[in-house]
Parts: sequence; C-alpha cells; structure tokens
Amino acid sequence: PSGLSACTHALIGLLKAGDHLLISDSVYGPTRNFAEQVLRRMNIEVEFFNPTNLSDLSVKLKDSTRVIYVESPGSMTFEIQDIPAIAEIAHSINAFVVMDNTWATPLYFRPFEHGVDISIHAATKYLIGHSDGLLGIATANERAWPILQASAHVFGETAGPDDIFLAMRGLRTLSVRMERHWKNGLQLAQWLQSHKAVAQVLHPALPENPGFKLWQRDFLGASGLFGVILHPMSKNQLSTLFKEFKIFGIGLSWGGFESLALLADPLPRLDDSNGFKLGHLIRLHAGLEGAQDLIGDFSQALDAALAVG
Ligand SMILES: *Cc1c(COP(=O)(O)O)cnc(C)c1O
Repeated sequence: PSGLSACTHALIGLLKAGDHLLISDSVYGPTRNFAEQVLRRMNIEVEFFNPTNLSDLSVKLKDSTRVIYVESPGSMTFEIQDIPAIAEIAHSINAFVVMDNTWATPLYFRPFEHGVDISIHAATKYLIGHSDGLLGIATANERAWPILQASAHVFGETAGPDDIFLAMRGLRTLSVRMERHWKNGLQLAQWLQSHKAVAQVLHPALPENPGFKLWQRDFLGASGLFGVILHPMSKNQLSTLFKEFKIFGIGLSWGGFESLALLADPLPRLDDSNGFKLGHLIRLHAGLEGAQDLIGDFSQALDAALAVG
C-alpha cells in the first residue's frame, strides 16, 4: 500500500529475533526509524554502516548477519554504492541484499543483474508519477521470493485498486518522463555548480561526483532528484529563497511532474571529513517543466536571498 510498507515488509519477512541487520547510514529516514524503533524492540540487532566504505561493512559482518539493506544513491546525500561488491560480501555469509531502488526506477538500475535479492520501489514516486497515489513494490529473486510472499500475506496489507490503476497508467509514460527528469536535473545541477552561492552539488551523474564512475558502470540513467549544498546563509536569506520560488514547490514526496525543493536535515557524517562541504543541504526534484524555466526560477530566488543579507 505504500513505499514504506514495501521496505518494512521486506525486512520483517526476512528477520527474526537474534538476527543482525546491517543498514546503510544514508537510508530513507522512515526506514531508519522502523529499524531503530520497531526491529530493535523485537530483539533484532540493527547496525548502520557507511555504504561507500566497504571495509566498514566487512568489519561489521557477523555470523548472525541475515540482511544487508542498501539504497543507492543514498537519500539526501546521493552516494552511489558498489552494489555488486556489497552483494558479494553478503552472499559469502549467505545473507540477503535488500535494495531500495526508488531513485533509479526499474529502467535505470537493474538490481537482479547486480546481485540484489529483493528490490524495492516506492511506486508513489516515478511509477505513479503525478503525486496522486500511494503504492510500494517489492520484487524478489527465486531465493527470496517464498519468504517475501509469505510475509506479505500474513500482514494482510493490500494495495488499493485505484492506486494500482494509476501506477499501470504511469508505466506507459515512464520512459519518456524519466528522460526529461534526467535531462532537467542534470542541466540544473550543472548550472548550480557554477553559482557563487553553491558550495557543492550532490548529483551522481556529474563527473566531479565521487560516485560518477560507479554510476556510469552500473546505472542506465539518472533521475531528477539530487542535492545542493549552499554556502552558509542567514535564516532570513534561507526563508527568502524559499518564499521567492515561483515554480519550485516545497515538498517531501517527489517523483511527480512538478519541481520541488526541501531543506534537508543534515546527516551526522555530513561534514568536511567525509568530503561534504559545510552549508545548507537542499534536496531538489527536477520535474517536467522547461529546464531554462527551472534555472531562471532558482536564479531569481537566489538573487533575492543574497540581496537581503
Ligand atoms: C518516498 C520513499 C519511500 C516511501 O514511499 P511512500 O510511498 O511515500 O511510503 C521509500 N523509499 C524511498 C527512497 C523514498 O523516496
């Protein structure tokens, strides 16, 4: 019935008391909350790892590790992860790899070809594509399928027919929309990179991004979702920026036709020592509007913000 329920049911289906779960530390916030607040209460050992540091992952492996849960790129920080290498580590101890693949959609990352056992999509985002329905998808390979199917059945959660209809309709235009999201996002990211108010752009398809080579190797395209870190500003400047947007809305759930901006909570490791610049992290979703209109809107809002001091 939702993307989050696809995440939680994949986890609850695979795990039992005493098992160890390794979960990437830049994962979608509500998935993190579920692991910390529910799975721990059920005596499942939950541990986080830095998904760009495979030795951090290897040292945290235990005999009881049952699942390695990843999301590539990471929510908010957009690090591309070496999924085939993570899968090799997981499978060496018979653990399952569960991946939240919402960012790339099934078109731009093919998880089962890279060693993933269960692939999750918040179909609420690009598959439905118009911000008017809620749906989640979890698909499995042969090894994980019986377990996933059993857990989905016992919880009795079923998706609504209207939402399924909207997702099936969305599929008809998915490839055309994704090309536009990709192109718009990249153009906006390139423009932001050269702006004096910008400290860093977190977009895997920019050659300057540390994940660029992995993105090129494993992904078939990019979505419209990425991050930008602005140099430190006053609170007044930040609120002016958001007030002055004419096209960008303020929004949490993305993947629809419209462009969105969101001031994001920084991650604990979002600091200089990990290659992130200090500043205000804004998550952007490039919608289906004209790229020049989006750049123009961001430009005038930034000018207004910089002018207030
Ligand atoms: C939005 C999102 C979800 C949850 O989807 P809902 O349908 O809103 O519950 C899960 N994972 C990622 C990466 C998301 O962006």
